[in-house]
Amino acid sequence: MTGGQLDVQHFDAVVVGAGFAGIYMLQKLRESGYSIRVYESADNVGGTWYHNRYPGARCDIESIYYNYTFSEEILNEWTWSSRYAEQPEILDYINFVADKLDLRRDIQFNTRITTARFNETYDFWEIDTDAGYLITAKYFITAIGCLSASNIPNMKGLDSFKGEMYHTGKWPHEEVDFKGKRVGVIGTGSSGIQAIPFIAKEAGHLTVFQRTPQYSTPAQNHAYDPDFLRQIRRNYSEIKQLMCSSMHGVPSFPREELAIEVSPEVRNQRYEKAWQEGGLFTMLYQFGDLGFGEQANETAQEFIRAKIRQIVRDQKTADKLMPKYIYGTKRPIIDTDYFETYNRDNVTLVDIKAEPIEEITPTGLRTAEADYELDMIVFATGFDAMTGPFFKMDIRGRGGVSLKEKWAGGAQLKTYLGIATAGFPNMFMITGPQSPSVLSNMLVSIEQHVEWISDFLDYLRKNNQEVFEAAIPAEEAWSQQCREAAEMSLLPKSDSWYMGANIEGKPRGILPFIGGVGLYRQICDEVAAKGYEGFLTGQASRALHNKSY
Ligand code: NAP
Repeated sequence: MTGGQLDVQHFDAVVVGAGFAGIYMLQKLRESGYSIRVYESADNVGGTWYHNRYPGARCDIESIYYNYTFSEEILNEWTWSSRYAEQPEILDYINFVADKLDLRRDIQFNTRITTARFNETYDFWEIDTDAGYLITAKYFITAIGCLSASNIPNMKGLDSFKGEMYHTGKWPHEEVDFKGKRVGVIGTGSSGIQAIPFIAKEAGHLTVFQRTPQYSTPAQNHAYDPDFLRQIRRNYSEIKQLMCSSMHGVPSFPREELAIEVSPEVRNQRYEKAWQEGGLFTMLYQFGDLGFGEQANETAQEFIRAKIRQIVRDQKTADKLMPKYIYGTKRPIIDTDYFETYNRDNVTLVDIKAEPIEEITPTGLRTAEADYELDMIVFATGFDAMTGPFFKMDIRGRGGVSLKEKWAGGAQLKTYLGIATAGFPNMFMITGPQSPSVLSNMLVSIEQHVEWISDFLDYLRKNNQEVFEAAIPAEEAWSQQCREAAEMSLLPKSDSWYMGANIEGKPRGILPFIGGVGLYRQICDEVAAKGYEGFLTGQASRALHNKSY
């Protein structure tokens, strides 16, 4: 406060989050001469890769594609060590970029944005932080990640546990010591499947509490050959083009051939080749009908189930590990020695569909069948995906309506292109719900959104427009298109976080746009080419900088 007045800082844009999305947005808007400040609750850059530091955490997109492509210099200066980079290496990379572009001076760390209200009188955002001061900004841009709201299920007795308790998505910075301990891991998604082999090697005993058995295929990780990297660098512009026009943001495409039209021998050869080759989408890309035909999909399921039976020696354990849902309707998983881990003497698998967890006790966990004594519980129970991170802030648009009111409580999710939402003027969402985001290589989707947003802001500035808002009919049409696209696929047939089905009480509905990054980019480019069709734009009610408090 100065002279009885509240000190208010004003920026052209405030960005929430200093992960891959936030720091590129900062660089891009700074280049265009906007005043911008990024707020980050952690004490450093990294976002997802800052928090998910559990043992075994790696990326499941190949490193050479999981990096920024906007700067040739950055591409040439950074060398990835292996096909699937580990979390510390990815974090080093983000730090390298932040340092190289001198981004930290415009990032305020250790500061969480708690509320953001659109001021309809002056057409700007009023933003509060947990540090207790007010900021105003013409544009409010969320770069909060799709998987940043950790989900710890509300289990009876949770607070009574006397041992150590962790969530993979909020892993501590200090080393967690598993040595000799009785560890329980709840959850077998990508995070659990990565962490379990590591924890098993150190723990006295590891008990895995599995609700849904998973299809997982070997990552086949390996160190990169320098000649291979040189070749990639030489051809990067071509590779980038392929990534941008692809389905999932990697430079490969599903084959057109149909699984149901080839012989079982050909199918098995293909699946075996995919198994040996590794890669997140390799198995799914073997045939054009695996994502749409249940009968075709069943052939890939059978192949993976047979592999699990071959790997896991104890057949009772193998039975419990048999996945039954439609392959690819939950995020595919790649692993290193996951199923092999169940051959260890110190690992037990508990099927919690057969014996549900009844409560957490002070000394462990009780299921319908038994008491498990544990020194540590690791929750690998995932996230309130895509919409959850927004609800950690109180975001209010026109008429004081909160985003939570708009999207939660059974209401249908509505956005325009996953970038903006009606009633929330001058707010952008980088890789928001109803954009391809989580179904793609995030870096490709992030760069596309950041560049598109930056172009839109330049367009507004050039045309003397200061306010934009998604028009309701455009939003209705896009949200309908997202739902219809999902209905054509097999995705709605499973209870996945893509469908919001992992969170109790969350309205069921497809969260990302499933049409692929290539088509999505084309749609966004057409919207821009038509003068940002579907957006209402106008001049601000009053000069923003004349406002005094
Ligand atoms: P997840 O895929 O949602 O898996 C959560 C696990 O916890 C599932 O096995 C789930 O069972 C179980 N679970 C949830 N609630 C439970 C409850 N109340 N009781 C018992 N079990 C419960 O979460 P995640 O493994 O953290 O992965 C989320 C996403 O993050 C991934 O799909 C991926 O996109 C990303 N990720 C990527 C990487 C990578 O790049 N390699 C690594 C980690 C994560 P159900 O299946 O029955 O719901």
